[in-house]
Order: sequence, then structure tokens, then C-alpha cells
Amino acid sequence: QAKLAGKNRQRNFDVDMQKQVEERLALEGDLRRAVQKSQFVLHLQAQYNNDRRIFGAEVLVRWLHPQRGLILPGEFIAVAEETGDIVEIGKWIIETACRQLKSWQGNEKFRNLVLAINVSPRQFHDQSFVDFVSEAITRWQIDPTLLKLEITESLMLDNIEVALEKMAMLRESGVSFSLDDFGTGYSSLSYLKRLPLSQLKIDQSFVRDVAREKNDATLVRTIIGMAENLNLSVIAEGVEEEAQLHLLAKMGCHAYQGYFFSRPVALTEFEQLFV
Ligand code: C2E
Ligand code: MG
Ligand code: MG
Ligand code: MG
Repeated sequence: QAKLAGKNRQRNFDVDMQKQVEERLALEGDLRRAVQKSQFVLHLQAQYNNDRRIFGAEVLVRWLHPQRGLILPGEFIAVAEETGDIVEIGKWIIETACRQLKSWQGNEKFRNLVLAINVSPRQFHDQSFVDFVSEAITRWQIDPTLLKLEITESLMLDNIEVALEKMAMLRESGVSFSLDDFGTGYSSLSYLKRLPLSQLKIDQSFVRDVAREKNDATLVRTIIGMAENLNLSVIAEGVEEEAQLHLLAKMGCHAYQGYFFSRPVALTEFEQLFV
């Protein structure tokens, strides 16, 4: 009896494993086709300053899967990183964001908006990355200061000298950098001052309980103080409640993003936020 149960367990385990492998392979295949067919759409999440005005937006990619509908990046960005598809997807995102900035230039309401684009490590380390961004800026004739790149600390792990050099080239051309998910990585503070950043983005895991947990409040206060000393602006992500906003503002935070203000939305809905 016990032996039989053990056998069944083993078989269930094998079946589960096989199912997972098949699903993964299907996802990789679908993703490759999605790249060829550009089945992606960019949503925008507004970023607000202390006057509660929108000064820009974070660009968040979504996959319009022909059968499954809208898929969030949590389900496919890591896979695209592993397969390398992120390089092509990333190019499409940068291209599309630049086109958007260009189309806003004729409109008083939108012409100063800054778009923040997430860049994953594999995409950043691709040898064509710097040239691609520079060429896109030239091709679309956009103001490079309207382009912000969100990078993470993990990008520095491989080769900090190369990363610094690439950042410097883009910074020189006017593009700015924000350090995303700050506080969650393995960063040493010594390189923080070497990076040509303009902004720190406090991770939402610290924002979530900032108004309830003393430890989180202390951490956030410390991050803001550190940013001030390094001459960086600070944006808080994942702001969902008024209490968080009040406290963050009191601590000296400069900018905010989160469901309290607006969710990530399609372009037309984003533009409606300005009426
Ligand atoms: P992230 O860059 O840290 O983006 C913030 C995530 O938090 C977004 O999830 C956003 O929708 C979500 N969020 C915003 N406000 C709130 C809030 O008030 N509460 C909560 N609970 N969540 C909030 P999303 O769009 O699913 O993106 C997840 C991650 O996928 C991003 O984290 C980023 O690392 C990656 N990602 C998204 N778009 C891109 C992209 O275009 N390229 C690359 N390479 N990665 C991307
Ligand atoms: Mg981000
Ligand atoms: Mg983030
Ligand atoms: Mg995050």
C-alpha cells in the first residue's frame, strides 16, 4: 500500500515536471512569435511631484497574447532575459517611446513629459545598446533629457567599469538614469556615488508599510537623506494610500508613483489625466 502511494507520488511529480517544461517551451515559442509580430503594447503610469502635477510617466510593457489576452511583464520579462528576446523587445520599446515623445512635441500639455523606460541587464549589456538609444534620439529628433532609463543594481554585478562607461556615454548625450527598486539589491554604497544617476526610486516593498512599520519608515528616511547628500532626486513607487504620501512628503520625498494617483494605463487614458 505504502509502496503504491509512493509510486503514485513519483508519477504525479513526473507529470507535473513534464507539464511545466511543456508550458515553458510553449511560452518561449509564443514569445518568439510575439517579437516577430510586435504583439506588445506600452502602458504608462503617471509620475507626480509634490504639487500633485504629472511631470512624466513610467513605460510598462504588456504582451497582447492572441489567445491569452493581456499578459503582465512578471510572466515574460525574465524568460525574455534568458532567451535573449529582451534585446529585440527592448528595442521596440525604446523606439515606440521615442515616437511617443515626438508626437507630444506639438502639444503644449505634453511636450515636457519625461518617459522612464525600464532597461534589463541583458538589454543594457548588449553591444548595440548605447548606439541604438543614441540613434533613436537622432532619428526621432527628440530632446534627450525627456528620456530616463530605469536600471537596477543587478546591472552593475557583471562588469562595473563597462556599465559605468556605457552610462557615462548616454548621460553625456542628455539621457538620465534612475536606480529602480532601490534597497532590494546587493548594492554597495561605494559605487552609488560613482554612478551618473539623477534619481533613486524607492522600492514599493518599503513604501507599502512606511506609515505602519517603524523600521520601514527609518529605512525610507535614510534613503531620502542619502539621496539628498548625493544630489539625487527621490521617487517613491507603489504609493497606494494618502497616509503614505503624507509621510513620504514630510520626509522630503520629491516624486510619487502608484495606484493612489493612477494605475498604468493605455495612452489615450493617460492623456485623459490632463483634462
Ligand atoms: P518596476 O519597474 O519596479 O515597475 C513597478 C511595478 O509596480 C509595475 O508592475 C507597476 O504596475 C506596479 N505598480 C505601480 N504602482 C503600484 C501600486 O501602487 N501598488 C502596487 N502593488 N504595484 C504598483 P508591472 O507593470 O507588472 O511591471 C513589473 C516589472 O516588470 C517592473 O517592475 C519592471 O521590472 C519590469 N518591466 C515592466 N515593463 C518593462 C519594460 O518595458 N522593459 C523591461 N526590461 N522590464 C519591464
Ligand atoms: Mg521601473
Ligand atoms: Mg521599480
Ligand atoms: Mg519594483
